[in-house]
Amino acid sequence: MTLTKIEPQNLRTPGPTPIPEDIVDEMSLPMINHRGPEFKELIEATTNGLKQVFMTTNDLYILTSSGTGALEAAVVNTLSPGDKVIAATAGSFGDRFVQIAEGYGADVIRMDFEWGDAIDPEAIRAELHKDPEIKAVLVTHNETSTGVTHDLESIARIVKGEFNKLLLVDAVSSLGCIPLPVDGWNCDLVATGSQKGFMIPPGLAFISISARGWEAYEDAKIPRFYFDLMAAERSLSRGQTPWTPNVALLYGLRLGLDHILGEGLENVYERHAEVAAYCRAGVKALGLELLANDESRASNTVTGIKMPADIDGGRFMSMMREDEGVVLAGGQGKLTGHCFRIGHLGWVTKDDITEVMEALERVLPKVGFKG
Ligand SMILES: *Cc1c(COP(=O)(O)O)cnc(C)c1O
Repeated sequence: MTLTKIEPQNLRTPGPTPIPEDIVDEMSLPMINHRGPEFKELIEATTNGLKQVFMTTNDLYILTSSGTGALEAAVVNTLSPGDKVIAATAGSFGDRFVQIAEGYGADVIRMDFEWGDAIDPEAIRAELHKDPEIKAVLVTHNETSTGVTHDLESIARIVKGEFNKLLLVDAVSSLGCIPLPVDGWNCDLVATGSQKGFMIPPGLAFISISARGWEAYEDAKIPRFYFDLMAAERSLSRGQTPWTPNVALLYGLRLGLDHILGEGLENVYERHAEVAAYCRAGVKALGLELLANDESRASNTVTGIKMPADIDGGRFMSMMREDEGVVLAGGQGKLTGHCFRIGHLGWVTKDDITEVMEALERVLPKVGFKG
């Protein structure tokens, strides 16, 4: 079988993200028995490293799936059909969380915010006041489809501090890049994926669960099997996973965590903040407009940019890819065709963004952008 040769590229999708060379090498170590002693060491080291990145002492499990699997795990391990939950959404990934909860029969009170806006914590407070039967609140920390980081700290203060409801968080494109102290903010279930901030390929998902989350588990009646967190707990206590894990990705994760913790979480957050500010300044200088309506809530992991009305977006994206080797992400859901996005998370520096800006400067005039 021959495929088109995959050339080195400046991969600026907000997942998958580029992988450092040493991690690529690490993932080709010899295979091991996932019921043996080397694996026990591997799963314990990676689980403990992840707890540091999550800033939690809660239980935490590594699942073999994409990030969506961890979102599904959060729902099926804590809710029952008919449970009233609030799901706040301002984009494609917020919508996905709604779909998962609805798909499993929860009674979802959907709170829609304009795409490009941040979720208003006060609106969540008002909704919680209205209905004492609400069991849980589902929220996305960083909305990857628009490039907006929601004020999870304020949301958590309301949901946990004032109402003491269960809080389920999609942190797929923020964890390890944007501060999210899981214990500090008292988040019950927090889900993320390997291909965003962890500098490894897609295929693993991580989820933490609080004591309160385990209480909800006891009553939860949605059917579950592959993502049953009690199965994960029983296996982990023996240094295993319930089902065959992706061992090669775990090799990569171990080294990725070394890099993150070696650099220091605060420094990693600072690097993401600097690169993102640099990216926003660059796109604005080119005369482009951010999708985020309030720049103070613009994401440090992905920048969403309105597609200029006077250009052919499809041609623009393919020229960036083919002529410049810069792979941008398009729009999702109702933003399809109306925006493009620059991912800057995981293994990223300002130089990667400088390359993007230089490519944009060459390509935009060629597709008729007047700025
Ligand atoms: C990438 C992403 C997901 C999960 O996507 P998968 O393709 O299942 O890994 C979920 N939520 C957000 C916010 C994301 O950025």
